[in-house]
Amino acid sequence: MNTIHSRGGNQVVFSSINYGTDTSAEGRCVIRELLNSTYNGVGNGETAIFPIQIWKKKRGVNYLKGDRNYDLYELACKVTARRFFPNFLNLDATFNQSDAWRADDPKRYMHEVATMGCRTRVFENKFGMKTSVGRGNLSFSTINIVRLAIECMGIKNKEERINCFFAKLDKMLDVTAKQLNERYDFQKTAFAKQFPLLMRSLWLGADQLNPNDSIEAVINQGTLSIGFIGLAECLKALLGVHHGESDEAQKLGLKIVSYMRERCNEYTEKYHHNFSVLATPAEGLSGKFTKIDRKEFGVLEGITDRDYYTNSNHVPVYYKCSARHKAEVEAPYHEMTRAGHIFYVEIDGDATHNPQVIMNVVDMMDHYNMGYGSVNHNRNRCMDCGYENADAHLESCPRCGSTHIDRLQRITGYLVGTTDRWNSGKLAELNDRVIHGMGEKG
Ligand SMILES: [Zn+2]
Repeated sequence: MNTIHSRGGNQVVFSSINYGTDTSAEGRCVIRELLNSTYNGVGNGETAIFPIQIWKKKRGVNYLKGDRNYDLYELACKVTARRFFPNFLNLDATFNQSDAWRADDPKRYMHEVATMGCRTRVFENKFGMKTSVGRGNLSFSTINIVRLAIECMGIKNKEERINCFFAKLDKMLDVTAKQLNERYDFQKTAFAKQFPLLMRSLWLGADQLNPNDSIEAVINQGTLSIGFIGLAECLKALLGVHHGESDEAQKLGLKIVSYMRERCNEYTEKYHHNFSVLATPAEGLSGKFTKIDRKEFGVLEGITDRDYYTNSNHVPVYYKCSARHKAEVEAPYHEMTRAGHIFYVEIDGDATHNPQVIMNVVDMMDHYNMGYGSVNHNRNRCMDCGYENADAHLESCPRCGSTHIDRLQRITGYLVGTTDRWNSGKLAELNDRVIHGMGEKG
């Protein structure tokens, strides 16, 4: 797969593999060997950056003790503790289920949600079968809701201020939907022969296209997504507090995102495409929007005073709270953001000695009805002798003294071996990340 031309041929394909629910002897064998080889690493034992691996967690299949693939789930947690992957996709979340799923159906994977590693999620379908297979996201655009909120900050009366924000959001949503629709109108004019791989067999219905047919009939099964960034800073601007620290802010946050979701459902009817809301990861935008807004509005405390805006609906990375509190606050947004979302927990210490901590995070996803999640931790590797540990700021190898250390970190969904090439916004975010206590009180 890594020989496929992508982005001008200068990047490896951003590939993801979803697995964990195949209970056949052969399927179990493949899963086990994939996990074992991931655990051992590539080359002389390095962590593979791609493909991103995603474990599909499902009750009755692999999650409960006694489930046929429970042993593989345990192995998956052990692998994650060392290699960051697999991430965990919760097939039991109410919004991740399909009525067509049957335990005895050998093709049941067609009715199981799958995700792109970073978070992009495609499942619901107004114009064909509800599935993650043979479809994809066609485009997404992200709204800077922080800026919309800053523009209303001057209004003294709270209710008027919030109304002003919603009016601006409404207008921006209309523009974004229109833009995505126009882009689609251009995309659909392409011919099947221009996509020899995608439009031969990968997309649902592609096998019925002739080389000179337009791809329109096939791509309407894809999705168009409207994303948002910086819910935390947006709420700070509107209320002075973010949703991690105030119930009122959480209430407003849920109102904002559910409003976006309602509007997307309307656009689905209006434009006859699958519109959905994305909890944007914003690898590049996170710093870019902040820079523009600071230039225009100055340094605003808790809003533009850092070099980045908080990823989607997340509680800010600098905010100290327990994993459980973070889960309680972020969970309800997963149901609304059907174009993709993720829940992260930052842990300290060496997780390789304690894979149970990974299971605890998956239990949290199960309990709070979250769709997708993962655990972040430190992993250092000496490039000269292969020594590994989990120290926060390892400068030189305790075994051979080398300073050639690979510090593995997760940027948004992807792993990056060195932080040298991160943009300044994301680097600032990384330095602000705090650990989430896993205990009851954290
Ligand atoms: Zn070494």
